[in-house]
Amino acid sequence: MDLLEYQARDLFERFGVPVLPGRTATTPEEARSAYQELGAETVVVKAQVRTGGRGKAGGVKLAHSEEEAVQTAAEILDLDIKGHAVDVVMLSPGADIAEEYYFSILLDRASRGYLAMCSVEGGVEIEQLAEERPEALAKVELDAAEGITPEVAKRIVSEAGFPEGIHDSVGEVLQKLWEVCYESDATLVEVNPLVKTGDGTILALDGKVTLDENAEYRHEEWEQYDETAVQVDLERQARELDLNYVKLDGSVGVIGNGAGLVMSTLDVVAKAGEEMPDKPKPANFLDIGGGASAQVMANGLRIIMSDPQVKSVFVNVFGGITACNDVANGIVNALEMLGDEANLPIVVRLDGNSVEVGKAILEEANHPLITVKNTMDEAARTAAKLAAEGKN
Ligand code: GDP
Ligand code: MN
Repeated sequence: MDLLEYQARDLFERFGVPVLPGRTATTPEEARSAYQELGAETVVVKAQVRTGGRGKAGGVKLAHSEEEAVQTAAEILDLDIKGHAVDVVMLSPGADIAEEYYFSILLDRASRGYLAMCSVEGGVEIEQLAEERPEALAKVELDAAEGITPEVAKRIVSEAGFPEGIHDSVGEVLQKLWEVCYESDATLVEVNPLVKTGDGTILALDGKVTLDENAEYRHEEWEQYDETAVQVDLERQARELDLNYVKLDGSVGVIGNGAGLVMSTLDVVAKAGEEMPDKPKPANFLDIGGGASAQVMANGLRIIMSDPQVKSVFVNVFGGITACNDVANGIVNALEMLGDEANLPIVVRLDGNSVEVGKAILEEANHPLITVKNTMDEAARTAAKLAAEGKN
């Protein structure tokens, strides 16, 4: 479960990580009260959405007066950032940024530990930094039982190349961020940027936190996050329908039969999307298993289409015990069951048992939402392209 920035900010504050005050607003008038409560002349207004690069998309803006703050909040609340509608903004006092750094801790399943990544070149997108200047990104493996001790903190800051004078102050913040990660059962804690202000204070200016839902049973306090999390909601609905569904962050819905096939479908979609504007990515994992009845297909399509980020759907099925003609009938009947609820283009690729009969059924149905493609690559490209074009 991904927290919104203001939720991460609150969490950081509870663990003594230095942050600026923050007030949320869902309307311009609430933004006015927030501005007055903060009592700062210059504020920053930030879109609260579960996606990065808000700054570049116009979702982070400075305002220098009450009227400007209200106006800016109204504009940002109207935005759609990479398919995420902005329902909430956060106002914070404007920071006097002297330098921007990067720091993150992420669960590294391969090493059965955590990995800390740190750079004195923060602010930019980290994928870009990792690609263009990997030497500027220090990576330190953390022992899960030990975490970030003062010694480990020292290693991280010196490997990242921080100036001597701030080793201790940055190191202390890193230790507290470890506490956040460990105590909150997080799989990711990212601060970008971690900043040094004009007077030398270290501050976490933007936080991203992913909580491990497997640990939900020992965190009653997580209930507060429930209503804001579309992800939790969709995954719960899917569980109730016995669907093996995991929400991801992209715009191409994926349905397949068999976990292995669905996994490779995700890869193929991501690869196809890389060459397109906005780089559409898979929106979910959904394995409908062997017996793809019309009901199961309809349930799957319904869940995927109620994800507001989804712009197209890719149904990728390899007919085995359930033959392609059953799957094709399942799709056609599912669309009938869904009626107006089905409103996104669906790309279908069938192979395996009775593939020709399956295709003939889809052809005959001649449904306006369905496109049939012969290969997985072709279908993935088409679905990604439709998602890129369907972007509002
Ligand atoms: P992101 O684009 O989603 O990562 O949003 P961030 O919260 O990281 O903000 C993007 C950039 O906006 C930061 O890297 C800063 O350069 C800038 N920024 C954010 N808050 C402030 C602020 O209070 N004052 C100033 N001057 N710049 C800010
Ligand atoms: Mn950021």
